[in-house]
Amino acid sequence: MITYEFSSKERSLKEIATFATLSNGFISVRGDPEVSKSEFGTFVSGVYCYTPIFYRELVNLPRITPIYLTIDGEPFRPISGETIIKLDTFNGIVYYESILESSIGKLKYESSRIVHKTFKGIFAEEFRFRPINFAGRVCIRLPIELSVSNKSVPPQVHVKLFKIVESDSSNDSYLHVRTEDEVYDVYFKMFAESNDLQLRPYSDENEIGFLGCIDVDPKQAIKVAKKVIVAKEKSTLNKYSEIAKEKTYQELLDTHTTAWQKEWKQIGLVIEGDIDFARYLYFNTFHLLQMYDDESDVFLLPARGLHGYGYRGHVFWDADIYSLPFYLFFKPSAAKAMLKYRCKCLQAAKEYATKSNFKGARFPWESADDGYEATPRIVPLDLTGSKTVLIETGELEQHITADVAYAVDLYYTFTEDEQFMEECGLKIIFETARFWSSRVKYDQEKNAYVIEDVIGPDEYHVHVNNNFYTNLLAKHNLELGVKYFELSRQKNNWRKIAEGLTSEEEVQNWRRISQKIYLPCLTNGICEEFEGYLQLPDFKVPEGCIGEKCLPEKIRENIPKTRLIKQADVLAGMFLLKEKFTKETIAQNFDYYFPRTTHASSLSLPMYAAVLAYLGRTEESFKLLKLAASADLGNLYGNVEDGFHVGSAAGVWTAILFGLAGIHIKNEKPTLDPKKISNVKMAFNVTIKGQNVRVEL
Ligand code: BGC
Ligand code: BGC
Repeated sequence: MITYEFSSKERSLKEIATFATLSNGFISVRGDPEVSKSEFGTFVSGVYCYTPIFYRELVNLPRITPIYLTIDGEPFRPISGETIIKLDTFNGIVYYESILESSIGKLKYESSRIVHKTFKGIFAEEFRFRPINFAGRVCIRLPIELSVSNKSVPPQVHVKLFKIVESDSSNDSYLHVRTEDEVYDVYFKMFAESNDLQLRPYSDENEIGFLGCIDVDPKQAIKVAKKVIVAKEKSTLNKYSEIAKEKTYQELLDTHTTAWQKEWKQIGLVIEGDIDFARYLYFNTFHLLQMYDDESDVFLLPARGLHGYGYRGHVFWDADIYSLPFYLFFKPSAAKAMLKYRCKCLQAAKEYATKSNFKGARFPWESADDGYEATPRIVPLDLTGSKTVLIETGELEQHITADVAYAVDLYYTFTEDEQFMEECGLKIIFETARFWSSRVKYDQEKNAYVIEDVIGPDEYHVHVNNNFYTNLLAKHNLELGVKYFELSRQKNNWRKIAEGLTSEEEVQNWRRISQKIYLPCLTNGICEEFEGYLQLPDFKVPEGCIGEKCLPEKIRENIPKTRLIKQADVLAGMFLLKEKFTKETIAQNFDYYFPRTTHASSLSLPMYAAVLAYLGRTEESFKLLKLAASADLGNLYGNVEDGFHVGSAAGVWTAILFGLAGIHIKNEKPTLDPKKISNVKMAFNVTIKGQNVRVEL
C-alpha cells in the first residue's frame, strides 16, 4: 500500500498539513510540524460554537501536538525547505523528518504520530533526536497550547471560541475547556514517556504540559513520547487515560496499525495499470475512512472534512448526494449515522419551514451541529465593513431538502433497514414531501406546478424560476411520499407510523402535484437549466480549463449573464434519476452542458464522469475521473489548505460505484453492470443489503 512523501521544498506547509491530517472521526489534527508554531489547534467532531457571520463554526480547540526543543533558552528551528512529511495510509501514521538548527548547532529530528483508530480519545506521538555537530544541554517542552483562536473574516479578525474552566499541572497535565456559548465541554489529559530523561509537569498563561532537560552529544539519540487524551465527557477521559497510561507508545501504535490493516483488508481495494490513479484513489479513500467515528450515533460530515476551516465545518448537500454512496457501500453504518444527523436536525428543519411560511420540513443549505440555517448572508471583505458580499444560497438553494429525501430512499433501497425507516426515515420522507407541496405554485398558463425564485446546483444564476434539478428532485420527493405511504400499507409496523404522520387525502395531493411539476424540457430533447437560460448569450469554456481562470476577463466578470454554468446541474438530476430518461436524452444533454461548464466546484467533474460511465463512454469517463481524483493531491482548485474536498473525493467513488460498476436495482434485486476500462483493473468489496460482494472492473 501507498506512502505519500511531501517535501517543504515542493509544496507549502499549509497544503501538506491538509494532506497529512489525521483523524479518527472524533479527534482531528492537521499535519503541521509539531516543532513549529501554528494557528491550527485541534478539532473535535461536532464541537461548534456560536460565531459572528457564520452562525456556528467548528471550534479551533487547544493545540495538542507541539514539541519544542531549546538550548540555553534558544529554540531549535527547522531549516527552511528541509522538512519531509510522510503519510502512510496503510497504517494511518504521519512521519516527520527535519534538521533543526540553533546558533549552537544542528540536530536530526524524526517523529511519528497517530490519532488512534479504535481508542477514539487518544492522540500519540513519539520523537527522537540526535545532535549532529554539538554537545550541550537540550531542554524539551511538550505543551498543550491554549492560545489558538478561530480566524474570522476579514482574516485579521480572530475570535476565541473556548474558555478555560480548569487547568491542573500538579500531577499529570489536566485541562477542561468550555465553548464560549457554554454548549460543549472538552477535557484533555497528557502523559509523557521516556527512558532517557525525567519530565515534569508545568504550566503558564498559554500552555500546560511537561518539560525536562538533558545533556546530549552526537553519540546519543533521545527518545520521548507524548500522549494526549481528548474527551467530551469526564468518564471517557478517565477510560482512555487508563489505557494511555498503561500502554507504551509502541503498543498504541501496534493496536492502531492492526485496526487500519483490518479496515483495508475488508475493503480489498486493488488498482492495477495506472499508478497515478491508484495513488489518488488510495489517498482519497484513506481520508474518507478517517472521517467516520463508529462510536458516535450521528455522523456530521463537513464539506471540507475535519481537515481545515473551509466552509467553517458546515454540512451541505455534498454529504447526502455526493458522499453518502461511498459510505453506503463500504460502511453502511456510517451512511445510517449520516442520515441520523438529518434526523437529529428534523425539528429545526420543521421550524425553518414554518418560519418561511411553508409546511413540513425545510433543511438548511448549510448547517452545523444544531440543524439551523448556517449560511452566511453578508460577508465583510474589509475591516471597516464598507465592502461586503451578499450570499443568497441560504435563502434560495432549496434543493437540499429533496436531496435529503433522496438519500433516505437510496439508503433504504440498498439496506432494507426497516428500523431506521420506522424511527426516522419515514418522517423525513413525509415532512419533506409536505414541504414541496406547499412550496410549489400552480401556473394556469402552463397548467403545471412551478417552483419560482431558487438557486440550482449551478450557483452562477440566482433568483431563477423552474430550475431543472430542483423541480426534478422535488417531483421525486413527492413521489417518494406516495411510494412510502403505499409501502406502509403492506407493512404492519409502518402503517401506524405513516397514518400518524400523514393521511390518504394528503398523499393523494402529493401524487397530483408530482404528476404536474413543470420540467423545462424542449421537444429537441434539451432540458433547459431554468426558464430563460437558453436566451442568454452563449459561451463555451476553452477545452481542458478547470475553473474561471482561463475565461476572457469580459466573460469572467459577466458569468451570470451567460450560459456558462458552475457545475453539473441538469446532468446531476438526470444521473440521480436516470431511470426517468433515455440514454439518448442524457447523452444529448451531456454534450450540450459539458462544454459550458467551468467546473469551478469540485463536485462537477465526478458527476460528469459518472454520467459518461453510465453512457458507456468509458474512456472519456476515466479521463475525467482521474482528473477529479487528483483534486486534492494536485491542488486542482488552489484551496487545498482550507481542507480536504470530501464531496469530490467521495463523488469519484459515486462515479465508480454507480457509473463504472453500474450498481442498480433490477426487479428489486441489486445488480451490477461493470464496465471495462482499458489498461486499468480495479476490484473492491462492497456491502449490499447486508451481503458482501466483490466488484471487479
Ligand atoms: C458556495 C455556496 C455557499 C457560500 C457561503 C459559496 O462559495 O458556493 O454554496 O453557501 O459560499 O458559504
Ligand atoms: C458548490 C456547492 C457545494 C459547496 C460546498 C460550492 O462551491 O457550488 O455545490 O455544496 O461548494 O462544497
